[in-house]
Amino acid sequence: MQLYNTLSAKEREALIEEAGKERLTISFYQYAHIKNPELFRNHLFITWNELDVLGRIYVAFEGINAQLSVPAENFEAFKKHLDSISFLENVRLNIAIEQDNKSFLKLKVKVRDKIVADGLDDNLFDVTKKGIHVDAEKFNELIEDPDTVLVDMRNHYESEIGHFKNAITPDVDTFRDSLDIIENDLKDHKEDKKLVMYCTGGIRCEKASAYYKHKGFKQVYQLEGGIIEYTRQVQDKKLENKFMGKNFVFDHRRGERISDDVIANCHQCGKACDNHVNCANEACHLLFIQCEECASSMDQCCSTACKDIHALPFEEQKALRKGKTVSNKIFKKGRSEVLKFKK
Ligand SMILES: [Zn+2]
Ligand SMILES: [Zn+2]
Repeated sequence: MQLYNTLSAKEREALIEEAGKERLTISFYQYAHIKNPELFRNHLFITWNELDVLGRIYVAFEGINAQLSVPAENFEAFKKHLDSISFLENVRLNIAIEQDNKSFLKLKVKVRDKIVADGLDDNLFDVTKKGIHVDAEKFNELIEDPDTVLVDMRNHYESEIGHFKNAITPDVDTFRDSLDIIENDLKDHKEDKKLVMYCTGGIRCEKASAYYKHKGFKQVYQLEGGIIEYTRQVQDKKLENKFMGKNFVFDHRRGERISDDVIANCHQCGKACDNHVNCANEACHLLFIQCEECASSMDQCCSTACKDIHALPFEEQKALRKGKTVSNKIFKKGRSEVLKFKK
């Protein structure tokens, strides 16, 4: 993995100064062999808790994946701590462009089997044999090449609100599904086409590119640092922005606007809209796109059934939920019969 600082010391300084007492929203990941994830997890929690870090961090034998926010005034101490860990020294930090003090409300550091639930058996292929990393400038060049096939490695609800022009956006619920679909679509072009891929922050492409190389694709490229880093470079180097709409993010903001294009529509009335919400019915929580008018007429619910439940007194709602599990609906992101305008 290529390692470098996203921001120069000077840029970082400017950002911290601008943020003042505010928080910086940061994400990073690293594939590395962690011998004792539990011990490492405890170490991170104790240190970061003292620095008032908030966020969601996954630790596994295969590495670490972190989305967090840190008070600007503690950033240097946080960075120093990262640099004291051998495999995190100079790790690329993605710093969100729109700062938001409420992006995370708790510090959660969890030990998982994997840092990304990718559904892959890693023993079948060598994850270190990945694709060629490209920066925003090279990526812009590559995607204009007629021999390029550009693939969005994210799920349907992510690419729905924003994607690169001319990208293939598989209509999938999971990363694992898109791997097979794309391989099948391109099975006759493993040698003659350039397979160029991207995702939110680059982590999914780390695995996907290695997987496709293992499957016989000869020219595999990946957007280093994903859409987040692309956007930063486009602004920094004044490059042409080829991303349309919003970048879906996994915190309460749901999406970061990259261009003014609104490429999605309200799932209830069909009008142009790219705001994701969760159904206000606690027993539903369906993720879907809802415009302001529909939000007010539907009480922020996905259906009249949910609206009726949401209108009940809290204790009655709780009684209704008893013994039922909502997890399947939470993961059925944006898929429901009641959403007429979901493409
Ligand atoms: Zn609407
Ligand atoms: Zn609902």
